Amino acid sequence: MEFSSKLLENAVYEMSQLPGVGKRTALRLVLHLLKQPESQTGRLAQALKSLREEIKFCRNCHNISDVELCEICANPKRDSGLICVVEDIRDVMAIENTSQYNGLYHVLGGKISPMEGIGPQDLNIASLVEKVKKGEIRELIFAMSSTMEGDTTNFYIYKQIQDREVRTSTIARGIAVGDELEYADEITLGRSILHRIPFETSLKAD
Ligand SMILES: [Zn+2]
Repeated sequence: MEFSSKLLENAVYEMSQLPGVGKRTALRLVLHLLKQPESQTGRLAQALKSLREEIKFCRNCHNISDVELCEICANPKRDSGLICVVEDIRDVMAIENTSQYNGLYHVLGGKISPMEGIGPQDLNIASLVEKVKKGEIRELIFAMSSTMEGDTTNFYIYKQIQDREVRTSTIARGIAVGDELEYADEITLGRSILHRIPFETSLKAD
């Protein structure tokens, strides 16, 4: 793509670094922004800058939060002995939307993927194992999407805590294999949490 302006080229390049945005789409978006009032581009730039500079992660569950302890962890009505292990904030949002879950979460921040060079040490696994060792948790619900990476991650964590006094379960496979949680409809996802099964059972089924 030949550009008549270096400024334009730079903006298009940065925009095209976003997932799913090719050079053509990037050019369309940048030209769209140019047609908008300057104040709008300013607000977009400021929102992104503030997001990067001020974003916090809950010190308990690692979910994205504006405060040190997120709203869910700070809520005394939630069952702190029940922890749902998820990949990222999208899963928390999907499960919260079902209104069927009253425990807390533990956000891993990804899943183990040797192909992408992501190992257990790159994820929030150690703090989860630590919580289990302290005996604060009655049940862990594995709610990773049922892909190979999700299964590997579940199994890795399971191995770390297997000999501890904690029940482990996995959401029922109303969620089809390979489905991402965030795309499951609320009723299916809500049911699959209520009808969760012991984790060992899911291993035998495979
Ligand atoms: Zn939290």
